[in-house]
Amino acid sequence: MKSIIAHADKARRMAKKLNLSLEELARRKAFLNLSSREERSLELLLPFFREKAPEFVHLLHGRIDAFPETRQVLEKTHSQAWLRIRHAEYFVELVSGTYDMDYVLNRLGVGIVHQIIGLGPQWVQASFGLLLEWANRELRADAASPLRDNPELIDTLAKVTMFDSGLVMDSYFMAERERADLLARVFETNAEAVWILDGQWFILHANQTTRTITGWDPDLLPHRSLSEFLGREEDVPVLSPEEMAQIAREKGHWEGELSIRHRNGSVFSVWATLNIAGTTELDLNDFILEFRDRTAEKRTEKELLQKTTDLLRSNRDLEQFAYVASHDLQEPLRMVTSYTQLLARRYKGQLSEEADEFIRFAVDGAIRMQALINALLSYSRVDTRGKALAPCATETAFQNAVENLKMAISESHATIETSAFPEIIGDSVQLMQLFQNLLGNALKFRALDRNPVIRISAKEEGEFWRFTVEDNGIGIDPQFYERIFIIFQRLHTKEEYPGTGIGLAICKRIVERHGGSMGVTSRPGEGSVFFFNLRAVPHDITSHGGMTVHS
Ligand code: ADP
Repeated sequence: MKSIIAHADKARRMAKKLNLSLEELARRKAFLNLSSREERSLELLLPFFREKAPEFVHLLHGRIDAFPETRQVLEKTHSQAWLRIRHAEYFVELVSGTYDMDYVLNRLGVGIVHQIIGLGPQWVQASFGLLLEWANRELRADAASPLRDNPELIDTLAKVTMFDSGLVMDSYFMAERERADLLARVFETNAEAVWILDGQWFILHANQTTRTITGWDPDLLPHRSLSEFLGREEDVPVLSPEEMAQIAREKGHWEGELSIRHRNGSVFSVWATLNIAGTTELDLNDFILEFRDRTAEKRTEKELLQKTTDLLRSNRDLEQFAYVASHDLQEPLRMVTSYTQLLARRYKGQLSEEADEFIRFAVDGAIRMQALINALLSYSRVDTRGKALAPCATETAFQNAVENLKMAISESHATIETSAFPEIIGDSVQLMQLFQNLLGNALKFRALDRNPVIRISAKEEGEFWRFTVEDNGIGIDPQFYERIFIIFQRLHTKEEYPGTGIGLAICKRIVERHGGSMGVTSRPGEGSVFFFNLRAVPHDITSHGGMTVHS
């Protein structure tokens, strides 16, 4: 019975790399003076091995278990029972008398497996020695031993064991080399420049990425000092290599910003990590320095900072404006309103008809201006006067909005259909305002030929609840989907539909303050669907769990 070849593809590749053709195998056997007749004679040992292999494996595993260096291999193996079976099969196959290509691949697979599980080569090699020692002893002690008639069998077993261990060790070291090559490739193509430095800060090795980042040819860097490549940039704190090393020794590694001199003479900022290279006392003095270019990152950081500063300034301007609107404009406006109203009351019918009309225009204008200023004020207060965000029931907010619109609802014979309302993280007063504005619009912009039907529903989408407020009103032309959310933008005159054009702007600002977004879709003439999302209460917070999220 042939066992499955472990890591068959790798073994096949390895056989090619090691040039293990049938000719090469023949050469190896000839070198050992191992003849075909001798090979075949080993079959005489098969019954003995079949019976005793598990006993030998028991001995072998006992040895492996006896030394701390080898014991950890057994601990790492996913199944020791599986390893015992495989080992027993292995030693039976050794005397199978057929040493063809499959046999070779099998042996290469075994070398690969032992390299992977980390049983050191000295122990793998010694296992073969142990086998010979054991077989010799057991066969001689056995009264029915095939050695009696064929004493040369023991030499043949020694030769085939040598041949076999040669294959296993070949693949073991090749697997180790492949791993080292792989790590070297990872090292060379790392996204960061990696330099290995000795204790005097001379470069021992620089990887290929060095060229992309610094412009320097990595092959020319060994034996040059790190200090040649360190530059100075105004905003980069200067640390000496010794200071970095000190931190690396204390904390395991150092991480921070450095300035590096590019081959073209410029100095640029990098994000660097310094690690101690060795793991033993013997090589504690070597360091690994890794770094990546931060130029683009720094530019983005600067731009972001600039934008944030601009934004803060414009926010402050807006707040200032709201303040001016509330205090400085309100008072003179009140004067204009009350005096024009006084004029209207006192002189109505005493001047010309034209004068009456002018006065009426002035009164209307003043009243409208007051409405606009109040609207602006409520818009600016969404952020400045909002309450802290906390878990709250959208149903209550909705019910309060309905209560405030009671008259309009009954006058328009509107029907409101709702599905279950979730709890969200929000400001209950603003949520009420949100529902009230949307419901109010659905009533105001209703179609004249039918009673308003408004449907409100909520659907969970990841961390959010997506709400929709659907009506069967006049609808909105798609070209105005964005415009209607802009402050004071309206699609109708105040004679057609009263209003200032602030409602939806406030809705959007409320939703955005809550971390969500808002939009609309519509079929003009049939109705509109306003949608927005609000953050769900995380599942680990109970409905009134007292958590507060600050905006
Ligand atoms: P206002 O209601 O004061 O005009 P809004 O900001 O609430 O201000 O609305 C802006 C514009 O969006 C409205 O003038 C109207 O043209 C349109 N609009 C809002 N809601 C609806 C709706 N439910 N159906 C049709 N049009 C709407």
